[in-house]
Amino acid sequence: MTRQKLTVLGATGSIGVSTLDVVARHPDRYEVIALTGNSRVEVLLEQCLQHRPRYAVVGHADAVAGLTERLRSAGLSTAVLAGPAALEQVAALPEVDMVMAAIVGAAGLQPTLAAVRQGKRVLLANKEVLVMAGALFMAEVRKYGATLLPIDSEHNAIFQSLPAGYAGEPAGAGVSHILLTASGGPFLGTPLERLRNVTPAEACAHPNWTMGRKISVDSATLMNKGLEVIEAHWLFNLPSEQIEVVIHPQSVIHSLVQYVDGSVLAELGNPDMRTPIAYAMAWPERIAAGVAPLDLPAIAKLSFERPDLLRFPCLALAFRALRDGANAATVLNAANEVAVAAFLAGRLPFLAIAEIIAATLDAVPVRPMADLPAILAEDANARAVATELLARRSA
Ligand code: NDP
Ligand code: MG
Repeated sequence: MTRQKLTVLGATGSIGVSTLDVVARHPDRYEVIALTGNSRVEVLLEQCLQHRPRYAVVGHADAVAGLTERLRSAGLSTAVLAGPAALEQVAALPEVDMVMAAIVGAAGLQPTLAAVRQGKRVLLANKEVLVMAGALFMAEVRKYGATLLPIDSEHNAIFQSLPAGYAGEPAGAGVSHILLTASGGPFLGTPLERLRNVTPAEACAHPNWTMGRKISVDSATLMNKGLEVIEAHWLFNLPSEQIEVVIHPQSVIHSLVQYVDGSVLAELGNPDMRTPIAYAMAWPERIAAGVAPLDLPAIAKLSFERPDLLRFPCLALAFRALRDGANAATVLNAANEVAVAAFLAGRLPFLAIAEIIAATLDAVPVRPMADLPAILAEDANARAVATELLARRSA
């Protein structure tokens, strides 16, 4: 079998590390061509030593010479590059078959688009790409014949639970609606009063999943589920009325599809991102992922509840942005990135994350975005507005 050639964007992060774990289990199937990181150069070095890629990309040019030197002394001729243009370059290499898009946030948009425009198999973890630029991104996927496979566990579960060959026509397929499950995050049962002074460390201590810091905070505010509602809208061509969120604290049911005849199909498993990663890498085949089989008697109980929009207003803000359309989700995503970074830096209380996002949505008019430069301009403008609101808050 010819090996599938792979670029991992965001290799040094949580999803990147899980991806390389799956790759290492199947050296007969996959060959790593390029790995990218940003600041964690030591992690990238170790990954290069193990996977021997042709290219490695770091965030800053200052790190290039040092990493090159250490790779040479280990006998590797890996070309070390830096910066956003290099990310696009390694995403679009002609020899690459598939690209794992696992950069966090808006920084992943252009490299992921570069892979799409080469018609590659794109494994999409970087949900912010669809939130900030869903219409353009999906149009490019269709135009260039890229194969888009969701890594986000909920969307991967829905993809697995939809009819084979499903092409985004929910009514024709007999789909009534989809149910996205949410663990509820670390503050599911935390009273509103106590949420005022929770710390970044508490917000990042997720009960079921080990993830990067930004998505961990998103899970704690439930903005992650809001971003996922918008992600599902674009991936599965569903209006907001056909997307529901249900809290399921065990994270065993990864999401469900409700059909018009009353059937509900779901994908279940232990909460381990190697399952959706392996599924998307091997699709339509299946490969081992190193994940233990589900032990239902040991789990004993699965429970469900409705989300509390009073304690978690970010979910309602995401539904609002989806309904408003045009630039609203771009603005939501940018404001969220600014607010979460401020919270992680200890400059903003937890409950003020939603306040900053709401105030940014209120301040920026809903207006159409024609193309990529317009999307980037909306993103930059919303970041400036949110940053200004932050500054005024602490003044
Ligand atoms: P991490 O923070 O663990 O990793 C992020 C990766 O992106 C790192 O490799 C980081 O490099 C790189 N990166 C960060 N900023 C930049 C930048 N400006 N330019 C280039 N590269 C950059 O995040 P996760 O792996 O947790 O998440 C990645 C994406 O996957 C997110 O969009 C998240 O929402 C999504 N996702 C994650 C899940 C999870 O279980 N972790 C589940 C579902 C979706 P470095 O670390 O070297 O600085
Ligand atoms: Mg998810």
